[in-house]
Amino acid sequence: MRKQFWPKSPGDATSMVFVLLIMPSVYMFELTIVLPELYPTTSLVYYLHFIFGTFLMMNIVGNYIYSVLCDTSTRTTIIQQSLSESRIQEGWQFCSACESIAPPRSWHCSTCEICILKRDHHCMFTGCCVGHFNHRYFTMFLLYLFIATTYSFIYNSYFLWGRIHFQFPLSIIKFIFPFAIFAFGFDDSMEQLYLMFYIVCVIGMIFTGVLSVYHVHLILSGSVAHEKSKNITKYNNGWRDNIIQVFGDKWYLTWITPFIKSTLPHDGTNWPPSATWKEDSKNR
Ligand SMILES: [Zn+2]
Ligand SMILES: [Zn+2]
Repeated sequence: MRKQFWPKSPGDATSMVFVLLIMPSVYMFELTIVLPELYPTTSLVYYLHFIFGTFLMMNIVGNYIYSVLCDTSTRTTIIQQSLSESRIQEGWQFCSACESIAPPRSWHCSTCEICILKRDHHCMFTGCCVGHFNHRYFTMFLLYLFIATTYSFIYNSYFLWGRIHFQFPLSIIKFIFPFAIFAFGFDDSMEQLYLMFYIVCVIGMIFTGVLSVYHVHLILSGSVAHEKSKNITKYNNGWRDNIIQVFGDKWYLTWITPFIKSTLPHDGTNWPPSATWKEDSKNR
């Protein structure tokens, strides 16, 4: 577990505060304003939506917390272990910033100031790196955000279209600058506040949708962001194995809750190239 989980840069801190405020606000908006307006509060449909919305929120928040708290750096026992065993094998490198050796696929992060095991990228919303041990939680956080924003978008559309009276050009300005219009008091009506949540969900849906496609594709092909850009394919062990490398042996249960323990195949230092890659490089 990371001891210092406060964001280390002002950019990270701003993004983190934003998601920590907006996530519960949208949840409250959907369940206390939108939902009772669309269905009677005693109906079964109302309860089902309430439960489903809460399930989404618990997975978003839970996976977010796990992503932030999980230590995926080389800080732990790994380095001492490998130094004593002097297994400076193929792919291990010396990191001059950490002044120690680092395993294959690890990469130094200048913001976190440490090498990260199987580093994917530094995430500004969690204020930490995504790597070997928190890759599962980050991906689930992202996928659930996409489902939740799409779900909200559909119901917010029903909720909002009957209320908004389109006036050119004012409505266009309200759509483009919903935050400024509301925050500076040009229109502090409830409708403008609702519109603000609507726009947040639309932007969130597009953003997380694009990222979800990108990250799922990376996971299925057994690579991380910078390996993909350099066309490194040697860790691709087939989709099923690639999924287990990220989600662990109980990968099929990880969608239920982040609390389910799903053991990863190894400690993040053991990355032999795949058999097919070895075969291919022999033939080359
Ligand atoms: Zn380093
Ligand atoms: Zn980082």
